[in-house]
Amino acid sequence: MSIHIHNTLTGEKQEFVPIDKDKVSIYSCGPTVYDTAHIGNFRTFITNDLIRRVFEYNGFFVKHAMNITDIDDKTIRRSHDEGKTLEQLTRHYETLFLSDIHSLNILTPHRVLRATDHIKEMIEMISILLEKDIAYISKDGVYFSIGKFPEYGNLAKLKIELNDTSVLHERIANDEYEKENPRDFALWKFYTADDGEVKYDAPFGVGRPGWSIECSAMATWALGPSIDIHTGGTDLIFPHHTNEIAQSEACTDKPFVKYWVHTAFMNVDDTKMSKSKGNFFKLADIEEAGISPLAFRYWLLTAHYRSQINFTVEAVKAAQTAFIRFVETFIRLGEVEHEHIHASANPRDYKTEFLAKINDDFNLPEALALSWELIKDHSVEAHEKVELLLDFDKVFGFGLQAVMDMKKEEKDSIPLEVTALVEARELARKSKDFVQADALRKEIESRGYEVKDTENGPEVKKLV
Ligand SMILES: [Zn+2]
Repeated sequence: MSIHIHNTLTGEKQEFVPIDKDKVSIYSCGPTVYDTAHIGNFRTFITNDLIRRVFEYNGFFVKHAMNITDIDDKTIRRSHDEGKTLEQLTRHYETLFLSDIHSLNILTPHRVLRATDHIKEMIEMISILLEKDIAYISKDGVYFSIGKFPEYGNLAKLKIELNDTSVLHERIANDEYEKENPRDFALWKFYTADDGEVKYDAPFGVGRPGWSIECSAMATWALGPSIDIHTGGTDLIFPHHTNEIAQSEACTDKPFVKYWVHTAFMNVDDTKMSKSKGNFFKLADIEEAGISPLAFRYWLLTAHYRSQINFTVEAVKAAQTAFIRFVETFIRLGEVEHEHIHASANPRDYKTEFLAKINDDFNLPEALALSWELIKDHSVEAHEKVELLLDFDKVFGFGLQAVMDMKKEEKDSIPLEVTALVEARELARKSKDFVQADALRKEIESRGYEVKDTENGPEVKKLV
């Protein structure tokens, strides 16, 4: 079944056609490790994870790379403020980030690339751009001349009159700037005292890379000059992704990315999240508010990645209640031994329906709704539901297999003689020998176990 993706570059939903047969290369902009990532960041990382899982579910061979920005304006400034080396600061936040994505059941990308490990590739790329006369050396650094790249701004749908000389050679050294004023941007920043210990030798002068060249160089190094999918939050469309396209394509003369996928913004309490407003949430903060990371993941899956969402503790707690019900129902289905199903004349093909949902621009909210329909469908046997839910969970990532294994371990830990007593009691009950059944129940209890009769048969639990 074909996969359709909304491509920011064309503004349309398009059929996915890989560059190389059954392979998919995905590059995701990773965190800037100058602080703890917030829940808005994690929305994007969960989308990236879902995209990877959908392709793997479809049988593609996926190569997923993500960078760690451990050198830029923000990391350098923060390390000075805190009196730490750049490495001390960034490694600390990198570890926190990797631990957070683990809690959210985000699969670690196949390649996690630190910018500081790829300075050589960045210098090579800048050298090529200088050779091609697309970059130029100014007093404070090496700049990309946007006037030399006619397609500049296509991704962000910028209307720039590149013949307008007032635009040309206006420079911006900061890594982040506004869409209203596109300018030549820094590929390399010459060393200043503000950079402290942070400096690298390059043929064009001592300094450090600009933010956007980092991703161009690392994406090419990890995945080649042309990649299938590049992801990130909508806030990265300009200038970061716009600049990445310009640098990479001007350098290699090849199309850089086939499909650009951007995750929409998350508000908190109907407003932009900010530390000054006191509505800034890290993963640890929501855990403190009683929300589990996986319930947060569940809540995110109830909205499409391209729609803006509004985080409130109440909304996510309501989703958490649904999530708990989802997992509990799954556990109960796994324990059903005797059931009466009402076979349907037209059984639904849930697996095909599921594929249709996830392959339609990663429509996880509908795929999740479908799972609930499956749970409530009286014409499907419990064991079949369990198999399907475990299969769908390869995409959802709620860790149902782990839940199942845990339950199995619990069940397996009941000693054989107790299981035998339970079975004997069940036989006695069925033949209405209640005196014997009661005696056996006492015998089971004397061994530290309790037996309960449910509509799905007897349940044995360790007495506490
Ligand atoms: Zn990036």
